[in-house]
Amino acid sequence: MPFWKRKKESEFISLGLNRAATPEEEAIAARRDEGPEPEFYEKFADAVAATRDNLAEKIDAVVGGRREIDATILDELEEALIGADIGAQTSLAIIDKARQQVNRKQLSDVDELKRLIKSELKEILDSAERNRRRGTVSSETEVRADIRPYVLMIVGVNGVGKTTTIGKLAHRIKSEGNEVLICAADTFRAAANDQLAIWAERSGVPLVQQKPGTDPSAVLFDSINSAKARGADVLIIDTAGRLHTKANLMAELEKMRRIAGREVEGAPHEVLLIMDAVTGQNGLEQARQFTKAVPITGLVLTKLDGTAKGGIVVAIAKELGIPIRYVGVGEQMNDLIEFSPEAYVNGLFG
Ligand code: GDP
Ligand code: MG
Repeated sequence: MPFWKRKKESEFISLGLNRAATPEEEAIAARRDEGPEPEFYEKFADAVAATRDNLAEKIDAVVGGRREIDATILDELEEALIGADIGAQTSLAIIDKARQQVNRKQLSDVDELKRLIKSELKEILDSAERNRRRGTVSSETEVRADIRPYVLMIVGVNGVGKTTTIGKLAHRIKSEGNEVLICAADTFRAAANDQLAIWAERSGVPLVQQKPGTDPSAVLFDSINSAKARGADVLIIDTAGRLHTKANLMAELEKMRRIAGREVEGAPHEVLLIMDAVTGQNGLEQARQFTKAVPITGLVLTKLDGTAKGGIVVAIAKELGIPIRYVGVGEQMNDLIEFSPEAYVNGLFG
């Protein structure tokens, strides 16, 4: 399901229906209604190709020519799953389930075992998704139509791809017919503004910024006013990510959250944590830290194109219960795909 879809159904609230859609936008919306674009699954399979090879190679090495499951196979498979960064806890749980079924003679064949692993992985991802649907986390469908702007806060440590993802998101949300504004609240690094300005220009979205060193909350306040004045549908906020001054950073994010909520009802409506897939298990610890300061509603996993450890997706879903919204698969504007548990698992198992 596309996130920033211009929905026609009355039970949904659209972010961009304050004007008539252009023929181009109608065409985009029509294609969306037909389901994922054909190239979607292909893109996804490409993104997890290295992980698939890594995992498949290991599974094949374990299984070899054997057809029957024994204790050694299960132990070695557990290691293979851990090796793909699926996480020790999760890998153990999956293999335990297989072991029980083997003991009860419900599972004997290696192909069945692979199917079991696949469906367990999918269930973990689906269950994190359900957290979103149940409304324990925000989504644009829960925002009242009269609430504007929809505030999207982007958090994460330095270098994970926040700015890049903002550029991609701005482009995407805009091309779906919404007025977008970007707020440059990473005032800590002098270069941050310039980099964000490049992305804003590329995606054709205005940017609110101030001198480096300005209180991020002040920039946020300005940008909210500016968004209101322009009638912007969506405000995307870039934030600093200096984890070495963790306490300050977290206090700053907390303050921004408070100010957003004071100025716009229910804001921030979405807080996306950006995580670098390459950092694997370290990323999980970062995620826990951020969850303490701001309620994370979703995750964007970047650089999935550069890792054979894409299993981290599963570890996140299992251990944090946070739905994965998007994955980054490159440095270009269009290298952001919506996450789908089904496409992911299918991509992983070929
Ligand atoms: P920030 O410090 O969190 O704002 O991170 P940046 O957006 O500046 O990104 C850091 C580096 O990661 C840049 O060189 C980006 O081009 C690169 N990057 C971001 N997302 C992706 C991705 O999905 N794939 C790849 N390969 N590189 C990415
Ligand atoms: Mg940045």
